[in-house]
Amino acid sequence: MNMVDITAAQAAYRDELVESGLLIPTGVDGLYGRSGVFEDVVERFDALVTRWGGQDGAEVMRFPPALNRQYFEESEYLKSFPHLAGTIHAFGGDEKAHRTLLRRLEEGQDWTEDQVATDVVMTPAACYPVYPTIAQRGALPGDGKLIDVFSYCFRREPSIDPARMQLFRMREYIRIGTPDQVVEFRELWLERGREMMGSLEVPLDVDVANDPFFGRAGAMLSSSQREQKLKFELLIPITSNEKPTACLSFNYHQDHFGHLWDIHTADGGVAHTACVGFGMERVALALFRHHGFDPAQWPASVRKVLWG
Ligand code: ATP
Ligand code: ZN
Ligand code: MG
Repeated sequence: MNMVDITAAQAAYRDELVESGLLIPTGVDGLYGRSGVFEDVVERFDALVTRWGGQDGAEVMRFPPALNRQYFEESEYLKSFPHLAGTIHAFGGDEKAHRTLLRRLEEGQDWTEDQVATDVVMTPAACYPVYPTIAQRGALPGDGKLIDVFSYCFRREPSIDPARMQLFRMREYIRIGTPDQVVEFRELWLERGREMMGSLEVPLDVDVANDPFFGRAGAMLSSSQREQKLKFELLIPITSNEKPTACLSFNYHQDHFGHLWDIHTADGGVAHTACVGFGMERVALALFRHHGFDPAQWPASVRKVLWG
């Protein structure tokens, strides 16, 4: 399939999802409301993740979908993904500036001149608030840390592909510890992820992947990430068989975040980190794609896994 066909298939599938009522359009590509049926699937999948991962003793943390701007700056996200970041701005002017704003709005001109950056930034991945939080607690315990997060995430990647949203939810487990602890965690979840998604009877493939690092220097970062096999994705066809969609990701950051935030293991080494991310909307879309738009009609075996 060439790019034109892929784009056409994405547009067609988005139209189907909107017509069925599963996705509620807002007039912005990548920004959707969801129906009760869609949300029920998301909730059941969230519970399934807990059934597979809940016995490991993760500490649960829930953050709003925004990040302390200082954490965001420290994360070096702007070095790698300036094109995806969403910053939150708010009006910072006086009454005169307010009158100007209203006049510009009225005249259909740009009214954003007096919008100034606030101290909060949209969360780009659910795990970002975790590293500085754990760093503040001092050295890790001997068995490291395991954290469970769930958050809306923002990425400025508008698309007609219904599986590429600007605001979407990510459930994650994050392992922080020695290289051995962290590598073992990722191996465990690569296997579990396959089994768990297999139980939902969707076609899947696990493959090495890379993040979309910005610019020319970014191309080098991407290829080194692939060579070192630092990122794997569990792919399921949603809008195309040739270009399946990443529904789960398994990321090994080595000591990157440990260095940035000075996270240390019990024996004084720089902590390594890894995370497994579950794309909630993408998993739901994959289920609708392969089992149909009406969960009542899904195979009994799949219904049993999700609804018991
Ligand atoms: P892709 O390669 O498709 O851009 P990604 O590598 O950027 O995905 P991660 O950064 O690893 O994805 O994010 C973790 C999970 O969040 C992904 O496995 C996916 O399920 C989900 N996800 C990422 N970006 C989006 C998006 N724009 N819309 C919906 N879900 C997303
Ligand atoms: Zn993560
Ligand atoms: Mg991406």
